[in-house]
Amino acid sequence: APETTADASPTITSDPFTLGVASGDPLADSVILWTRLLPVDPLPDTDIEVTWEIARDAEFADVVGSGTALAVAALGHSVHVDATGLEPDSEYHYRFSLGDFSTPPARTRTFAEQGTMPDRFRFAFSSCQNWEQGYYAAYRDVVERGDLDAFVFLGDYIYEYASGGYADDRGRTTGQDFECETLDQYRRRYALYRSDPLLREAHALVPWIITWDDHEVDNDYADDSSENDDARQAFLERRAAAYQAWYEFMPVRLDPPSGADFDIYRSFAHGDLVNFHVLDTRQYRSDQQSNEPFVEQLGEAVQVRDEELVWSPDHTMLGAAQNQWVTDGVAASNAVWDVLAQQVFMFGGNAIVGAEPPVVVVDTWDGYAGARKELLDSVGESADNLVVLTGDFHSAAVAELRSDPFDESLPVIGSEFMASSISSSFFDDDDTVEALVTGALTANPHLKWFDTQRGYTFCEVTPDRWIAQFRAVADQFDESSPVDTISAWEVQAGTPGPVQLS
Ligand code: FE
Ligand code: CA
Repeated sequence: APETTADASPTITSDPFTLGVASGDPLADSVILWTRLLPVDPLPDTDIEVTWEIARDAEFADVVGSGTALAVAALGHSVHVDATGLEPDSEYHYRFSLGDFSTPPARTRTFAEQGTMPDRFRFAFSSCQNWEQGYYAAYRDVVERGDLDAFVFLGDYIYEYASGGYADDRGRTTGQDFECETLDQYRRRYALYRSDPLLREAHALVPWIITWDDHEVDNDYADDSSENDDARQAFLERRAAAYQAWYEFMPVRLDPPSGADFDIYRSFAHGDLVNFHVLDTRQYRSDQQSNEPFVEQLGEAVQVRDEELVWSPDHTMLGAAQNQWVTDGVAASNAVWDVLAQQVFMFGGNAIVGAEPPVVVVDTWDGYAGARKELLDSVGESADNLVVLTGDFHSAAVAELRSDPFDESLPVIGSEFMASSISSSFFDDDDTVEALVTGALTANPHLKWFDTQRGYTFCEVTPDRWIAQFRAVADQFDESSPVDTISAWEVQAGTPGPVQLS
């Protein structure tokens, strides 16, 4: 942990809570409360004491916990409070204060105790919120519906690009003329994203369970390999800066990182109903396949699969420690539903009908076929019901899961729901999109549904069934855009595989 400096009680003359508040990583008796001080006037380079309160009610008549916490200067004056001693499966309200300033009351929840069976759990999940490609109408819809117990975010919280890189001129500009590489640059990027009021409201609504993908550091990085194959040590310094900034801005139940290694995989069980195993598919993975011919019309990331590489036992997606952790975690889980909350799609996407070996997006689990088969053979066997939640692909999908998706003689062992992006674009050109969707559905019979609009997925989980509703944003460039359900699916407990409701 970084050294703390002497406490100071500086005079604060402007609102220090401009980044809002958040909560996350709920347990049955505690939740992480977060804020980070960023007033207009610069803060002194010392730690600052803030006050926090958590109550049964939004008026704070029934306060059940309170205290002071340090906004640590070395961590960008971020505050992570573990509010303990709470009741299971209960709603709470919290706020921070400093000097004359207090945050508006925000809402959070605890999870249910293991050994109990909650009636139901409602959450939404999504990923990918590129500032320059659209607005956050999806979060407006999340806030308006008001019926969630949690929100799960699967990565690409920021995009590291310099302003103009991958922008859409109907979107908005970051005004930041740098690709993020230093701690200060990543901090400025997160602060900009958190300046969006809809994002802040979504954080203040429910606890979030968050993991990262590549753009929190660098597009398509793999372990210590950057997108552009920078010098290893320089990239690890960049990764350390990126990981620290992510920690500073996220309501996570983790100790602050020191250096370029930061284990963030962790799990959260809501009683015996649902257990979220939250994965990191970036930090430990082998570098992506790069030695096979590209398939011109589909872009550089789609390649004829290199069978020797992707089936090699050394070609890892999760790394040995995380792989063992999730395998053991699912085996030990008592949940009706075991969930892999992760980044890149597992379901298998052959880009060309009948191609053998398949033509795949090598950044996804398709580029790690041996690791996928080993993991799914294990967790498919030990989970009562396996559901994989996915982000990254800026499009939505529903699929049957097999441990090798291209071997239809294998049994279906679970279901995958891929949520679309909050704002990040899929391909712009309508003809490309239509060809991709038609081709993907034709070439991949296990892929049951695919859509390329922005949005998020709402899930209602009970002991008997899992319902997933796909919500789509009509116009990603309008923050007041309508958001509608475009498809709904069900998984019956005990019967692996999704069934379409609408
Ligand atoms: Fe993305
Ligand atoms: Ca990504």
